[in-house]
Amino acid sequence: MATEKSATIPSDVKMEKKAEVSKKEEKSVSNKIKAGHVHLSGCTGCLVALADNYQGLFKLLDDYVDWVYDLTLADVRHIPEMDVALVEGSVCIQDHESVEDIKTTRNKSKIVVAVGGCACYGNITRFARGGQHNQPQHESYVPIGDLIDVDVYIPGCAPTPQQIRNVCVMAYLLLMGTEDQKKLAANYLKPLMNLAKRGTTACFCDLMTEVINQGLCMGCGTCAAACPVRAITHEWGKPQGQRDLCIKCGACYSQCPRSWYSFDVMNEFEGIMEIIDGAMK
Ligand code: SF4
Ligand code: SF4
Repeated sequence: MATEKSATIPSDVKMEKKAEVSKKEEKSVSNKIKAGHVHLSGCTGCLVALADNYQGLFKLLDDYVDWVYDLTLADVRHIPEMDVALVEGSVCIQDHESVEDIKTTRNKSKIVVAVGGCACYGNITRFARGGQHNQPQHESYVPIGDLIDVDVYIPGCAPTPQQIRNVCVMAYLLLMGTEDQKKLAANYLKPLMNLAKRGTTACFCDLMTEVINQGLCMGCGTCAAACPVRAITHEWGKPQGQRDLCIKCGACYSQCPRSWYSFDVMNEFEGIMEIIDGAMK
């Protein structure tokens, strides 16, 4: 039977000194909020936007967030209790698992955030009518607000990485911060919470009365680009709506950067930016 040889190192071979691994100071998990990403029917663009925070994402994971659920990044099969659930995508109402997932998410999460156009108002998935190669049984999709109460909307297709990051930081401060930080975080989140309350009930008339007629429209054309049935044209620097075509999906209202314009946020803007910059250092 062969005996194991002990390896001997020739005396003329210099060994590289092993670099000392400095142990990073880790924040205790109990000081973090539990968050996760629930992926329903969407293109994964919102998750890519979250990842596009690069170092900022590592900072979030190091200091503020214990990432407890994510089909892509965490090996967890069942939706756990979460402080903040970031939901991407709409719900296929013929897919019982998706319907159950969104209901479970609501039951187990303190704050549900609809991230991106598909979760907020259905976006392009609203018009899917079967025939997709990957899941041909799917025929109709609804925004998550049609099935559960949603606390915060982050509109955009996809939202900016900074916007997703800011909401995560502010949700952390709302739950774990000092009284002053909680107040600032509530001010920051309020317009996005109001947007969630409106859900998909807003339409071009609301855009007309609350944005255009108030002189807040800056003529960016986002509403016209977002309208799935082309009920909005952009003429002479201002949007014009054809109300007979409007299906009242709420896309134009959610996507308009001025529909959730808030004087409270503008008044606190410096403090808000200071706190976010400080948190990301
Ligand atoms: S159909 Fe077009 S105009 Fe009507 S609410 Fe939707 S996006 Fe706005
Ligand atoms: S998205 Fe809002 S700000 Fe931009 S053109 Fe439409 S109404 Fe005006």
